[in-house]
Amino acid sequence: MRPHRAFVQELLPEIELGGLEAHHLVDVLRAKAGDTLTVFDGRGLEGRATVVQVTQGWVRLRLEETWTARKETPQPITLYVALLKGDHLAEVVRAATELGASQIVPILTQHCVVREMGEHKLLRLRRIALEAAKQCERSVVPEVTPMRPLKDIPTVEQGFVAHPRVSRRLRDAYDPEKPTALLTGPEGGLSEAEIGLLEQRGFTPVTLGPRILRAETAPIALLSLVTAGEGI
Ligand code: SAM
Repeated sequence: MRPHRAFVQELLPEIELGGLEAHHLVDVLRAKAGDTLTVFDGRGLEGRATVVQVTQGWVRLRLEETWTARKETPQPITLYVALLKGDHLAEVVRAATELGASQIVPILTQHCVVREMGEHKLLRLRRIALEAAKQCERSVVPEVTPMRPLKDIPTVEQGFVAHPRVSRRLRDAYDPEKPTALLTGPEGGLSEAEIGLLEQRGFTPVTLGPRILRAETAPIALLSLVTAGEGI
C-alpha cells in the first residue's frame, strides 16, 4: 500500500503536526511510532518521514530524506472559472487540481447567477485543493484566489476562452512552452462584449465540440485538452 501523504508547512529535520493533518493520521489512519509516510510542503518539495511520537492532537515526525517532485506542468496554467451555482465550483477545484492547474481564479461575469463568494467558501475551496493534491500525489497545491470581476483579468501571454459559437480548436494554436490561461463561462454563458474584452487581453475563443457542456464540465474539458490531452 502506498504511504499516506501529509501536508506540512516546512520540511524540517523534526516536524510537529497538529490540527486536521494530525487528526487524520491519529484518529482515522491509527498512525503509530515507527510508521512511515510521505510529507510535502505544497511548493514542490517532498520527503519520507517516520512517526516518532503520537500524543493527543499531535504527531512528531523525523524527516529521513527529501526530493523535488516532478509532477508539475512545464509552464504554469491558470484556470479562470465563472462563479457557479450550488457546489459546482468545489467539483471544478478538485478536478482542476488533479489535472494540474497551478492557479484557480473564480470570476464574476455578467450572466453569473451566483454573484459573490465569501471567505468561508474560499477557505473550503482551498481545503478541497489541498485534499485533491494529496490524493493525486501532486506536490504543489494550486492557489485558489478570491473572486475577481472578469474586467480585472490581466493581459495574458497565451489564453483560451471556451465559447460555443466558434469553430477554432485549441490544438491549432496551443504552445506548451508558454504559460497558459484558460477561461470558461457561467450557466448563462459569456456575453459577446466579454468575449471581445478577453480577446483584447490575449484570449483566443475555442470550441469544446458541437455539444453544449454544462458550466461545471467545460473547465474540466478545456483543462484536459491542455494537460491530459498533451500528456503534460
Ligand atoms: N447558452 C450558453 C452559451 O451559449 O454560451 C451556454 C453556456 S455553457 C452552459 C457554460 C460555459 O461552458 C460557456 O460559457 C463556455 O465557456 C463553456 N462551453 C460549454 N459548451 C461549450 C462548447 N461546446 N464549446 C465551447 N465552450 C463551451
